[in-house]
Amino acid sequence: MLLPILFYPDKRLRTKAVPIKQVDDSIRTLVKNMFETMYDAPGIGLAATQVNHHIRLIVIDVSEDQSSPLCLINPEIIEKDGDLEWDEGCLSVPNYYECVTRANHIKVKALNEQGETFELAASDLLGVCIQHEIDHLDGILFVDYLSKLKQKRLLEKTKKAKQ
Ligand code: ZN
Repeated sequence: MLLPILFYPDKRLRTKAVPIKQVDDSIRTLVKNMFETMYDAPGIGLAATQVNHHIRLIVIDVSEDQSSPLCLINPEIIEKDGDLEWDEGCLSVPNYYECVTRANHIKVKALNEQGETFELAASDLLGVCIQHEIDHLDGILFVDYLSKLKQKRLLEKTKKAKQ
């Protein structure tokens, strides 16, 4: 089932998501629908926040052929190293790309769809994507890292597009 995506500057994107207490069938159904929504968009990452579910859950697939689905429940970055600049985009901010500096290498700890803990080391696109999606769970958008002027221009562009 495709889920409606919230678009910037929707205030619901600013909600801080709460941890998932139990990974049950309702969570697994949401994960399935989030993958479907992300692939359909198409995108390489989607946070539950973006589909108006304010729980700590993200789905990612940075492959070109939908072969590497990755689901992170209650993700936590436990190590960060180096700097990396990347041109980022977001399904909640359509047709907009800007360079953001993130950590180059990260280690993340999370639960999988079975509720089991795992750790994952990531860098480059995957690392950037994980950091971007975890930000969503904290109500942060990549545009928040841009200059005030760029943010103002983006808001004006968004308003114009709505009219
Ligand atoms: Zn995003």
